[in-house]
Order: sequence, then structure tokens, then C-alpha cells
Amino acid sequence: MLEVEGVSKEYPSPQGSIRILSEVSFSLARGEAVSIMGPSGSGKSTLLYIMGALEPPTRGRVTLDGRNPFELKERELAAFRNREIGFVFQDHCLLPQCSVIENVLTPTLVSNSSDAGDAAERARSLLEEVGLGGRVNHRPAELSGGEKQRVALARALIMKPLLLLCDEPTGNLDQKSAEAVASLLFELHRRGEMILVVVTHNPELAARFPTRFRLADERFQKL
Ligand code: ADP
Ligand code: MG
Repeated sequence: MLEVEGVSKEYPSPQGSIRILSEVSFSLARGEAVSIMGPSGSGKSTLLYIMGALEPPTRGRVTLDGRNPFELKERELAAFRNREIGFVFQDHCLLPQCSVIENVLTPTLVSNSSDAGDAAERARSLLEEVGLGGRVNHRPAELSGGEKQRVALARALIMKPLLLLCDEPTGNLDQKSAEAVASLLFELHRRGEMILVVVTHNPELAARFPTRFRLADERFQKL
């Protein structure tokens, strides 16, 4: 269960603090999938970073299965994020010098709990699932935009996160690749018990979610 309770976010500026989010509250159960739309600059990414424990809220709190990541020490916070939260950004953020499978395995390298053999096996099977079983040893530069995003998706899922956060995951893709990535997202979500939150500018993609939110003018509302 993800609980966002009264989350506000302000950034300091020379003219005084700028409020980005104001008292955002909602909760999502395991297995839920939601989209968030809203104009550019309305704070969608900021909200996602707060949910993903990358950025602390100014007020309020976020808990994942009752745990507040910002009560953890730095090291534990990093481990929590690595284990429980998967991220897919608009830009794939793959390491160019590493192969596809090495990229998928990066989250497992920093976690001391996972078995290296199992991790490689799981990375291969995830790459099969995203349709890239034949590309495990390619470099990112040898892949199309849609394929890179599918690698990013496999990397986000390698630790079996409880929460998968996607920030405009299809924003840089042509329509066909965007549809393929979106379909994969839904398919992979259906199989797991994770909570999926997708920020998107694409109304067709947003409409495919059973629950839709909109963020605009500091107001966060369920559509
Ligand atoms: P969106 O993803 O909806 O386009 P963002 O969450 O990226 O919006 O940004 C919301 C607002 O917060 C923008 O006006 C942006 O300039 C501001 N902002 C984001 N991050 C910071 C930061 N680290 N410091 C100051 N202002 C920021
Ligand atoms: Mg954004």
C-alpha cells in the first residue's frame, strides 16, 4: 500500500519560496495502476520523485507498506529505494558502455542480498518478456528508442519492486513504439503485485488506466 498524506513541496527562490505541491493526498493498494496528467511545470515529476523517495516533501509524508523512507538513514534509504521502487524516465538513462543485460543487472550489483546467478537468469527472462531476448549483448546505441525504453523497463523490474514509477515513459517515442511500450507496461503490471504510477502527456495512454489523476495549479484531483 502506498499512502501519500498531505504532501506539500516548496522550493526556495530569491523571491521567496515557490509552492509546487499543496496538500496532495491519496492511497493506492497493491495491484493498482494509475495515470497522472497535467500541464508542464505543474509538479508531476516532483510528485513522482517524492513518491520514489528521491526528494523529501516539505510537509506531509509518503509511506510504502507502512514504512516512511525518509525516516531511514542514508544507506538504508538507498537500499529501500533500490529494492522497493522501480523508475522509468522519459530518457532511458541506460549506461552506454554497458551491454543490455549489464544495464538490467545494475540494480542487483548494489544489493548484497541477491544471488548473482539468479539475477542473471531473471534478467534474461525479463529481457525475453520485453521482446529483447536476442539483444542481451548489444549496446544501447545499437537499439531503437522503443527498445531502449524496454531495457529500462526490464531494469526497473529486476528487483521486483513494490512500486513502479514512470515519468513520461513514452514521451520520446513514435506512436508505434509508444504503444508497444505501453502494452508491455500493462502486461508486466498484470503479472505482479506492484503499484504502477505513470505520468504521461499522452491522453490515449492516460485513458487506459482505471484510475486517473490530474495535477494543475497545485490541485491534485481524481478524474
Ligand atoms: P512537471 O514534471 O509537471 O513538468 P516538475 O515537477 O518538473 O513539473 O516541476 C514543477 C516546478 O518545480 C517547475 O516550475 C520547476 O521549475 C520547479 N522545480 C523542479 N525542481 C526544482 C528544484 N530542484 N529547485 C527549484 N525548482 C524546481
Ligand atoms: Mg516532468
